[in-house]
Amino acid sequence: MVNTTGASSKSESDARAEEEGEEEEEEESDVDSDIEDMECIVCNSKEHAKSMLLCDGCDDGVHMSCLDPPLHGVPEGDWYCAGVIY
Ligand SMILES: [Zn+2]
Ligand SMILES: [Zn+2]
Repeated sequence: MVNTTGASSKSESDARAEEEGEEEEEEESDVDSDIEDMECIVCNSKEHAKSMLLCDGCDDGVHMSCLDPPLHGVPEGDWYCAGVIY
């Protein structure tokens, strides 16, 4: 008896939830720093801005705790999000 097991290699693409937004609505605010208004690309929250990292490649913001794996501290030098690394 020959047992033939079909190779199940499925590769899922992680980059499928890309939002295309060329038109951005300008909101009037008195906040000077843009970082305070940065949205986390993972949880879409603007909370905990101080624990948010800014991607040096695409200027996206993401919480250190929202990263996979999460970071326990701000990395030295430049930091790039997963979208830029790929
Ligand atoms: Zn987050
Ligand atoms: Zn990026």
